[in-house]
Amino acid sequence: MLKYDLIIRDCLVVDPLNKINKVTSIGLAKGEIVETGDDLDGKVARQVVGFPGAILMPGLIDTHMHCSEWLGGELAFGMLSRAGVTTALDMAGPTTSVLHAMKKRGSGINVATLEAVRPGVSVKDLNPSYDECASLLQKSLSEGAIGLKLTGGHYPLTPEATANAIKAATDGRSYMAFHAGSAKNGSNIEGFMDAVEFADGRPFHMAHINAYCRGMIMKDPKEEMQLAIRTLKDNRQIVSEFHPAPLNGTSGKCKDNQPESHVTRNCLRMGGYPETEGGLRQALKDGYAQVSWENLDGENRYVQGMKAFEYWENMKGICTCCFPVNDRESAFLCASAVDENGNFVIDALSSDGGGIPRNFMIRYGYQLVTWGLWTIEDYVRMTSLNPARMLGLENKGHLSPGADADITIFDPIERKPLLTLVKGKGVCSNGVLLAEGGTVICTEKGYDSVKSAGLNAQIVNLEKSMLYAGR
Ligand SMILES: [Zn+2]
Repeated sequence: MLKYDLIIRDCLVVDPLNKINKVTSIGLAKGEIVETGDDLDGKVARQVVGFPGAILMPGLIDTHMHCSEWLGGELAFGMLSRAGVTTALDMAGPTTSVLHAMKKRGSGINVATLEAVRPGVSVKDLNPSYDECASLLQKSLSEGAIGLKLTGGHYPLTPEATANAIKAATDGRSYMAFHAGSAKNGSNIEGFMDAVEFADGRPFHMAHINAYCRGMIMKDPKEEMQLAIRTLKDNRQIVSEFHPAPLNGTSGKCKDNQPESHVTRNCLRMGGYPETEGGLRQALKDGYAQVSWENLDGENRYVQGMKAFEYWENMKGICTCCFPVNDRESAFLCASAVDENGNFVIDALSSDGGGIPRNFMIRYGYQLVTWGLWTIEDYVRMTSLNPARMLGLENKGHLSPGADADITIFDPIERKPLLTLVKGKGVCSNGVLLAEGGTVICTEKGYDSVKSAGLNAQIVNLEKSMLYAGR
């Protein structure tokens, strides 16, 4: 009788929950971890593989990415897999579009989705009532989302409506994430402070902390980041993440001679350009703005200069524009801030990638270990254990016996994934995709919708999420 489907040998196995950090072996069977140990018997394994010099960790979990047809696009799934990600949270939806894209181009990974509260699209205007937010929540959950996303930084709501959405989502004990900003203040440190106030003590996930600290209000990005960190320390019901990418990603769409997204306007202002369509044209020609070119050799890629300008023109502005606005020093502060218990103030490292070509959790994120700011355990905590807890996924983020056999193996020198497994099955090996479709992490209300979309469904109990269960 075979005890293991697979034994993986010779890796540095890192699992902070179980305090494992040594070169050893791990045995998997039926999609679960059987055990970790030095003397696993290869004779009772279907297959034995070895990765000398590599790091083996519980699968990377990306708590901020985009994979809908609206934002990110259907290549996102493959791009995430190739970056070593096993589970990811889409931060905008539309949920039905994520499911559709996943059925078409899924890569075998697990995906959860939030539905954006978008004026004129998912809600009537920028001032939805509590009831309108609550009914959007119910509709989204039944489509397969786990909650709502406020995209105030890009598409602001009134302060009252913002508070309504947070109240509706948390009353419904669903997931709530917020890209800070409202009709009062934009996507900056003032918008961040407003977000804390509007939530009125309710838990939520504050998206990409680094994005609010670009020196637009207090001039010094570091000062803004210190204020953000102090505020998060005083409001531990808020969970958060940051990403390591120097470039942001925003909409290139213009209407009445102006970029629709307020973030795009901010970026133009920061670069000394007028906040107009003409300003964006010039920024693209000058190389200040880049574009994410969809499906250039099977992936979305950054393109700069006249080629970027022509692409944006051909797409009539309906493409992702990227600006070098993410301050490096404030990102560093994000990575290093700890609270009085020694826990990181910001809970996770994310990518804000997916279809935006910055799935840098290993490529840039691991450099924090190389540089010595993080231990390897810190890295795994920030990219797997904490993200699993944020989403309430008790069987992920660690390698305990019985846990899901979601595993990421990567080369720490090249900072490249070598093999990614989801529930024991290979989804990507050395950049080659091995799987299709995938599993949607949803609530009970969304189970039927996910199944009828032809995808696997995994029901999550959000009471276990860090939002409701605490750290
Ligand atoms: Zn995002």
